[in-house]
Amino acid sequence: MDKPAIAGGTPVRSERINYGRQYIDEADIEAVVSVLKSDYLTCGPQISALEEKLCQITGAKYAVVCANGTAALHMACLAAGVTEGDEVITTPLTFAASGNCALYCGAKPVFADIRPDTYNISPAAVETCITKKSKALIAVDYTGQSAELGELSAICRKNQMVFIEDGAHVIGTKYKGKVNGSIADMTTFSFHPVKTVTSGEGGAVLTNSEDYYRKLVLAREHGITRRADLQEKPSHGAWYYEQIFLGYNYRLTDIQAALLSSQLDKLTLFSKQRKEIVAQYEKAFHGLKGIGLQKEIPESDTTRHLYIIRILAESLTIGRREFFDALAAENIYCNVHYIPVYYHPYYEKLGYEKGLCPIAEQIYEEIISLPLFYGMTDGDVADVIKAVKRIALYYAK
Ligand SMILES: *Cc1c(COP(=O)(O)O)cnc(C)c1O
Repeated sequence: MDKPAIAGGTPVRSERINYGRQYIDEADIEAVVSVLKSDYLTCGPQISALEEKLCQITGAKYAVVCANGTAALHMACLAAGVTEGDEVITTPLTFAASGNCALYCGAKPVFADIRPDTYNISPAAVETCITKKSKALIAVDYTGQSAELGELSAICRKNQMVFIEDGAHVIGTKYKGKVNGSIADMTTFSFHPVKTVTSGEGGAVLTNSEDYYRKLVLAREHGITRRADLQEKPSHGAWYYEQIFLGYNYRLTDIQAALLSSQLDKLTLFSKQRKEIVAQYEKAFHGLKGIGLQKEIPESDTTRHLYIIRILAESLTIGRREFFDALAAENIYCNVHYIPVYYHPYYEKLGYEKGLCPIAEQIYEEIISLPLFYGMTDGDVADVIKAVKRIALYYAK
């Protein structure tokens, strides 16, 4: 039998591969260098050019780029009017930022359980979490598969909640033929290097609402405005500006904006290869004993940011932890997305307890994120497949 490296076999590869990696080409480098030689490193022309490009790609009326995806979520909560005493419903199977943004505003994150097949937030579970205090819903498009935006939008409308889509994984995906980014009241993106396109650090909020747009820009720029129509007092002169809201400095630099603009030119290419890798993984792992796959809803035409397998303990003699270590021994360095947010000590101290979302807790015990990024070679993909198969077969019950 083909012995896994952890049991004394030869690793499938000698070079380490990680679960994600950015792809930077000469055009990206040139774009950055040209900004460095220009008059503006920040607050310059790259910002509005990038915002226009994001609107074109998503079909949203307005885009507000910002420092990172977490800032985008915070700005969206501020624009939604989330404040002390409010509740914000979100999924536990996400990065901590999806809950933290509610806490920044003095509101309480409420965790609704996920669907056991798609791992996205369950609309039925959201409904059971709604109270008079529910102000907003933050749905994550987990792994890049669109959340059920139609159902979730209807729930939000019925209960007068603001619908925020945490689209950190979703750029490149379509829901019912429409690009994610123009469907929810506000959609946030992250441009961290592990995401599908990157600006180093960066984020954006997209919306069709002029009212949200105005508030998002204020939230990004200290609550300061030069727009006379928004000012409360008479102008002192051409230099005049007013602070009318407690905002932040959440700006993106022109250096980052130029990098992201150049990356977005490759989005179709990135998306295409991600889909091809996912198709190879699906074919290889379908029916493999001990491995569970994520279900795709027909409404989502998905550009996957993450590729997740589940390690099914009932069919294997090892668990997820051992499987993860066995992959590392093969030089395949995976990750786990995510530790349920309310497991973190900070959330425990706020009073959240294990048992809140049993499905998310169960899925968390089983998941591993395999390498998935643009620029993986056929050999890389073959190595990952070979490693998963040899471990699953060796430890099959
Ligand atoms: C990456 C991520 C964020 C945060 O984005 P940053 O740009 O790292 O601040 C928020 N939510 C989800 C689901 C993410 O994956």
